[in-house]
Amino acid sequence: MPSLSSPQPRPNVSEIPRYVAGKPPTVRPGLTSYKLSSNENPYPPLPGVLEAAQAAVAQMNRYPDMGATALYDALAERFEVPAEHLSLATGSVGLIYQLVQAFCDPGDEVVFAWRSFEAYPIAVTAAAATSVRVPVLPDGRHDLDAMAAAITDRTKVVLVCTPNNPTGPAVTQAELDAFLAKVPPHVLVVVDEAYVEFVRMDDAVDGIATYAQHDNVVLTRTFSKAYGLAGFRVGYAVAPADIAGALRAVSLPFGVSTVAQAAAIASLAAEDLLVERVEALVGERARFRDGLLEAGWAIPEAQGNFVWFDLGDRAADFAAAADAVGVTVRPFAGEGVRVSIGETEANDRILTLAREFPH
Ligand SMILES: *Cc1c(COP(=O)(O)O)cnc(C)c1O
Repeated sequence: MPSLSSPQPRPNVSEIPRYVAGKPPTVRPGLTSYKLSSNENPYPPLPGVLEAAQAAVAQMNRYPDMGATALYDALAERFEVPAEHLSLATGSVGLIYQLVQAFCDPGDEVVFAWRSFEAYPIAVTAAAATSVRVPVLPDGRHDLDAMAAAITDRTKVVLVCTPNNPTGPAVTQAELDAFLAKVPPHVLVVVDEAYVEFVRMDDAVDGIATYAQHDNVVLTRTFSKAYGLAGFRVGYAVAPADIAGALRAVSLPFGVSTVAQAAAIASLAAEDLLVERVEALVGERARFRDGLLEAGWAIPEAQGNFVWFDLGDRAADFAAAADAVGVTVRPFAGEGVRVSIGETEANDRILTLAREFPH
């Protein structure tokens, strides 16, 4: 028990939920193990990325370019947006923290779907703001009507995670437009597009066109998933200049390292191969999900690089069974299991397990 005369963090700090990271695989002699627990990219670095990162390592005695000018310019050119509409951060998790910090006073409300990305309630609680969780529909989609209805006088931010991690479905442009029409103009709508490169559906959201039409819309994107740079921590927001400026103002100075900046620029330059790899993962996702549907599983639509097993109480059992065949998955106790799309061999082991596992 800390004495009252010792320094005390704000009370909200003890309420911050713990981030449960995907476990590394259990090493089993004679069996290649696979990690399908963190939605990582299974491919090696794109051509030129390792070389660019290695060259940047030699600059480790220098601070990074604080203005990250070259990366801002590369992103501005790639997405045809003004550089001052961009804000870089240490992964898009960093952006979520900055958004809450810049827009919420203690007690202000942040509305998001649940189950969704586990970093949301962590960032909200860390800022002493209040999480308002709106249950996803039985098929794992956002209940955007209920989310609009959950907006109160205290609401400052709404987070729309599309595709939704961990359940998988994405919202359509028509659904997003109808939702935005209901949100008061002073409420910020964050469209978390961490998996945007994997979306293949009719009426997919055009994030860039959407942000360009609204003064209260922010896109968050990342180099962690499709681009395969999870270890380097680079994400970016696309937003109207005043919102992007607010994010830059609260950002950690020198947060994005020299190596991360160099790797991100080189990744953008290698986009042709990236697109091929993403296409292969999308194909593998279809093969994997179709196999599960054939085996009688009710798997929600999967628009990211992962699928969701709605297992309820048996989530931990399934995860243990996967571990026993050398594959680490991500269980959410009492709710379900998320399995990333990875190596064919890894996905095949889960398919075999899923055919046998009671369902
Ligand atoms: C993985 C993920 C992110 C981003 O992670 P970073 O590595 O911090 O860029 C953001 N949102 C969702 C929904 C994610 O699943």
